[in-house]
Amino acid sequence: MNNNILVFTDLDGTLLDSETYSYKSALPALKLIKNKKIPLIFCSSKTKSEIEMYRKRIGNDDPFISENGGGIFIPGGYFSQKFKYDKTAKGYEIIELGTSYIKLIEVLKSIKRESGLNIKCFSEMTTEEVSGYTGLDERLAKLSKRRHFDEPFLIFGNDKESIYVTTEIIRRGYNHTQGGIFHHIMGKNDKGKAVKILIGIFKKKHPKLLSVALGDSFNDLPMFEVVDRPILLKNPDGEYDSRIKLSNMIFADGVGPKGWNQAVLALLSDLN
Ligand SMILES: [Mg+2]
Repeated sequence: MNNNILVFTDLDGTLLDSETYSYKSALPALKLIKNKKIPLIFCSSKTKSEIEMYRKRIGNDDPFISENGGGIFIPGGYFSQKFKYDKTAKGYEIIELGTSYIKLIEVLKSIKRESGLNIKCFSEMTTEEVSGYTGLDERLAKLSKRRHFDEPFLIFGNDKESIYVTTEIIRRGYNHTQGGIFHHIMGKNDKGKAVKILIGIFKKKHPKLLSVALGDSFNDLPMFEVVDRPILLKNPDGEYDSRIKLSNMIFADGVGPKGWNQAVLALLSDLN
């Protein structure tokens, strides 16, 4: 690997177009990253199965972070340095940070029951419904339903009702975040905790590593807080998420994979 730089990236609305899920406009920067042997870590609210599909398509062999920091999947033998993991499965060394999926659904359903609010959980949606809300094709929608650490849901209500649900999730000892149209309930995991652990492992061997992260949404904030160079892309509406404020924030002038491409090319030429 290149021992100087480590890049983390969100997928939806960042490396992938928020509507078409295409990464085509990012191909020049993806190619350059590959040529320079810079590790590119996908860090997404997507599931392991979905991320694996994009890794395969893009030709990425690096570790990845699923479901908003719920799980870190490290290909067996990727690191020569020692590190702690929770289990091995299907060729990965896995670090589990999230709460079990069954427990999360239980909590969400009890909030729904007690409040009487119109909440729709991902687990209650058919593959067709998921496809309709997300724009994912049927195959990807199926993969997105194989969840382990994070339950997306929709609230059909006003801001006050949304705030009530968020507060109730936190009061019960869980985390809430929002990425795109979906709210998420999860355990005490977030993207930042997972990113920090991976940076720690990489730094055992490459102490001077510069860490970079690209994202577009509120759920990327914890990841931005733990890297050296946080890069915020505009959201699909062409605006920066106003909830993300950091003194070292780099505001990239672009949306989705096109913005990603420009930002990564600019960064790499800057560091040259
Ligand atoms: Mg995103």
